[in-house]
Amino acid sequence: MTAFAINEKPRECGECTLCCKVLGIKTDELQKAKDTWCDFAQKKCGCSIYHARPTVCREFECLWLRGQFGGIELRPDKIHGVVTPTTDGSNWVIHEDHGYPGHARQALMPIIKAWLAQKQSNYVIVVTGTKRSYLGHPDTFAKLQGTVDELTGMRDVKVVRTIGE
Ligand code: SF4
Ligand code: SF4
Repeated sequence: MTAFAINEKPRECGECTLCCKVLGIKTDELQKAKDTWCDFAQKKCGCSIYHARPTVCREFECLWLRGQFGGIELRPDKIHGVVTPTTDGSNWVIHEDHGYPGHARQALMPIIKAWLAQKQSNYVIVVTGTKRSYLGHPDTFAKLQGTVDELTGMRDVKVVRTIGE
C-alpha cells in the first residue's frame, strides 16, 4: 500500500468513530456485527471504554489514519466510508456506511483511478451492506473471484458488478 505519498505528520481520529459502526469484529474480547454501532461507541466522542478498549481496537488504524491518502476532507466520517487494506496488504477495501451508498466510492474515485492507472493488478473492493463492487481490471477480477472472501475478511456479500478501467 505504498501507491500514495504517506504524510509525515501523524493523524488523529478526531470526531470520527465510523470504524466502530461499519466494521464487524469477532474476537474473544469483543463481538459486533458490521453496519451496527458498537455498544461502547459514543458518536463523535469516541469510545466509552477507551482506556480499557480491546486489543483489536487499540491496534486498528484505517488507511486514512495511516496517512495513505487525502486530507481532513477525506476522513472516514466525512466520506461515509472506512478504507482498510485487503488481507494480503496490497490493495484496498472500502467499507461504505450502508446508509450512504456510493458516497465513499465517489469521494475517492479520482485517487482510485490514478492508482488503477499505475498498475493493472491494483484493485479496490467496495462493500456496501451485503453488496460488493469491484473496481479494477477485468482480468485481475477473474483471477481473484475465488478468493475475494479471504481478501476482504468477509463472507455473505455478493459482487454485484465489475468496472474495468
Ligand atoms: S475510521 Fe479511521 S479515522 Fe475513523 S475512528 Fe476509525 S481509525 Fe480513526
Ligand atoms: S470498544 Fe470502543 S473502540 Fe472498540 S469498536 Fe467499540 S466503541 Fe469502537
